[in-house]
Amino acid sequence: MTPYWLDGASPLAGALTGDVSADVLVIGAGLCGASAALALGRAGIDTVWLDAGAVAHGASGRNAGFLLQGTAERYVRAVAIHGRERAQRVHGLSRENHRAMAATIAELGLDCGYQRRGSLQLAGSPEEEGDLLESAALLREDGFPAEERGADALGEHLSGAGFRLGVHLPDDGELQPASFVRGVAQAAMGLGVRLYEHTPVTTLHADSPGDVRAETPTGTVRAQIALVCTNASAGALLGGLRGAIDAVRGQMLATAAAPPVFECPIYADHGYDYWRQDEHGRIALGGWRNLDPEGEVGPDEMLHPVIQARMTDFIRRFPALRDVPITHRWSGTMGFSRDGLPLVGAVPGAPGALVAAGFTGHGFGFAWVCGRSLVDIVLEGRSEVAELFPARRFRT
Ligand SMILES: Cc1cc2nc3c(=O)[nH]c(=O)nc-3n(C[C@H](O)[C@H](O)[C@H](O)COP(=O)(O)OP(=O)(O)OC[C@H]3O[C@@H](n4cnc5c(N)ncnc54)[C@H](O)[C@@H]3O)c2cc1C
Repeated sequence: MTPYWLDGASPLAGALTGDVSADVLVIGAGLCGASAALALGRAGIDTVWLDAGAVAHGASGRNAGFLLQGTAERYVRAVAIHGRERAQRVHGLSRENHRAMAATIAELGLDCGYQRRGSLQLAGSPEEEGDLLESAALLREDGFPAEERGADALGEHLSGAGFRLGVHLPDDGELQPASFVRGVAQAAMGLGVRLYEHTPVTTLHADSPGDVRAETPTGTVRAQIALVCTNASAGALLGGLRGAIDAVRGQMLATAAAPPVFECPIYADHGYDYWRQDEHGRIALGGWRNLDPEGEVGPDEMLHPVIQARMTDFIRRFPALRDVPITHRWSGTMGFSRDGLPLVGAVPGAPGALVAAGFTGHGFGFAWVCGRSLVDIVLEGRSEVAELFPARRFRT
């Protein structure tokens, strides 16, 4: 069950022992919490940072490492759901998220396999072809490059597997997700952020701004404000968000190094299936959740034998991959919001807390700017990102 990305990863910090205080408490050490912790460290703010497990052991170290633009919906659907102007703003923000992560990789000199080869969306049916073509046209109209590729341009591997049409988004990227988040965590610690792993917050008292208390099994943290970056489980600490974010499971596998087959990250079946070949030639593949949408829910990490078997069959469809060993299988938990957009900022009923969560399967497209936006609120009192994704819209 250990993700390929975390194989051999050593602990970065011990657990909390005793009571501590800080100006800001960050809860959750995935991509979102790491972004907040780094921004706080850079601003010289006294910060304690807790995770129930270890850095990047949640979804941030269990995903496919795609840096995609947009939400999990194809653009034509995003426009239908959110309206043209909002869809365009959200799409643009995810591109800014990518640029900001790339800038951080360069600034910190992170060795995380970052590449910008674009991504390829594939259609498996005439109906999906229509969706893709319409989306590509709308993207271009809104100023985002999108190139159509017919069967010939897809190459023999993909056309041989039955795909007839694709859309290439040249600005997308990919990285080793756990290496990125762990590298950021080390940089934040170097700036004075106090990280404690294996320290779950069991109760968060955030009803008085300026006097926040987080209880853990091994000590209490007092702070002026808590930044809650716990994604799928945000509702467990913040009653005002209960029911706003659902925990949804995703399955993944990784192979040993294989001959070059895929030139960039690929997204198929309306985004349900995705795979890429990393800089070592290994293939990371995930998805097929639509085979059992009712079963693949909840916070527990567990393998789904039927979905894993279907993923294996899919790999074997490619002649060059028929015998490549599968070395890792794992699952991870995502936080799906009701409208597919993140929840950011002030939380109903908890004036001492801010939240960034509910990234709905595309956290590497949004969580970096959302985590940073919480620090903008702490420092400047407002954030445009929080205004775009107000957490209060699902007041429960
Ligand atoms: C199989 C899979 C594939 C995916 N593929 C992609 C992809 O290719 N591209 C993409 O953009 N997105 C992808 N995603 C989604 C992406 O991984 C997430 O949206 C993103 O990692 C969310 O980051 P986060 O920091 O909000 O949450 P997480 O990484 O889940 O971090 C939350 C942290 O909070 C901690 N925590 C929870 N409760 C507590 C508590 N009470 N006290 C202390 N700590 C707590 C957890 O231990 C965890 O470490 C995928 C997800 C999965 C599961």
